Amino acid sequence: MSHGIPMVDLSAQYQAIRQELDIALAAVIAKNAFIGMPSNEFVAGFERDFAAYAGNRCCVACGNGTDALEILLKAAGIGPGAEVLVPALTWIATAEAVTTVGATPIFVDVLPDQYTIDPSDAAARVTSRTQAIIPVHLYGLPANMHEVMRIAERHALFVLEDCAQAHGARFDGRPVGTFGNAASYSFYPSKNLGAWGDAGAMLTDDEAIATRARMIAQHGQIGRKHDHRIEGRNSRMDGLQAAVLSAKLKHLPAWTRTRQALASRYREELAGIVRGFQACPPQLEHVYHLFTVELSGRDEVQRGLAERGIATAVQYPVPLPLLEAYARFNHRPEDFPIASTLTKRILSLPLYPELTLSQHRDVVTSLSAEVARTNRLLANA
Ligand SMILES: *Cc1c(COP(=O)(O)O)cnc(C)c1O
Repeated sequence: MSHGIPMVDLSAQYQAIRQELDIALAAVIAKNAFIGMPSNEFVAGFERDFAAYAGNRCCVACGNGTDALEILLKAAGIGPGAEVLVPALTWIATAEAVTTVGATPIFVDVLPDQYTIDPSDAAARVTSRTQAIIPVHLYGLPANMHEVMRIAERHALFVLEDCAQAHGARFDGRPVGTFGNAASYSFYPSKNLGAWGDAGAMLTDDEAIATRARMIAQHGQIGRKHDHRIEGRNSRMDGLQAAVLSAKLKHLPAWTRTRQALASRYREELAGIVRGFQACPPQLEHVYHLFTVELSGRDEVQRGLAERGIATAVQYPVPLPLLEAYARFNHRPEDFPIASTLTKRILSLPLYPELTLSQHRDVVTSLSAEVARTNRLLANA
């Protein structure tokens, strides 16, 4: 019998490193270093540490991952009249950022085995107005950056890597976020590196983009206070969030290895039981923000698992272009056949560094039983 297995367990993570986190927070409180001004030592410290971890020259901390996408597009001069290629299977933030800067998202189907943006479909949707592409390293698996960069070079596109789910992932040994012009990260609490609230970061090797992004996030100020060169906005990372993130960052490599070990166990034990997995070719290092399986009768299996106390999630149940929010584009499922099929089959299972082996076994056993039960139902239907 299951005793309830959640999709993430932030309490277990806190218990594991409670002392370090409590000390980190006390230091911020002692100095009243709450607001992410350029002079905030905790935010500046996290920016240095995370740039080193991610492999980029510049890191600009900001309010959240959605702001990071939007501010980087703005910093690159993407705006009204521009078309931006966005995968059809991702979180809505990827497309919202495009619309918020006044540009038009052009949705691209995904690869049937890896679920990331399909480079040949992207190439087919390029027009004279296309100015940027946002590959998403979905669930922690790098998008095909060699192909994305070839298309980008051919059409002079700005490449913004959405790394919100892929802290530490690598393609051919090279960190994601270092292929394109810039990268956005989210530190939403359940991400692989999570704050205790909203937080995000913008990474790039391009100093001009970094400076412009920092200005936009700080009301257009540069250097001195009240020196507003442009109209910007407020998107700051709190000092408390920066301190939490710096403390957790030290553990991220070990947490990632545990995620990978749990995922390979799932792959071994669920082979032949589920219909398929997200493919992970050897040159890609997957960091398993999510572990997703493909199932027939997905909704029935999910219902059965819920009754056994096992939480699962569908990321995502509808392809982005088919959401009501994008009804104005008049897309039909046939425009994105792969994303439309995947959204009916995919199910994310509990996977986080604190998941115990006995919980892992419970998920495997319960899923096997529910798949068998669902298959009997489908056969008799
Ligand atoms: C989480 C996420 C975002 C947005 O990050 P927030 O910090 O929640 O704003 C953007 N893109 C993807 C793919 C995400 O998973």
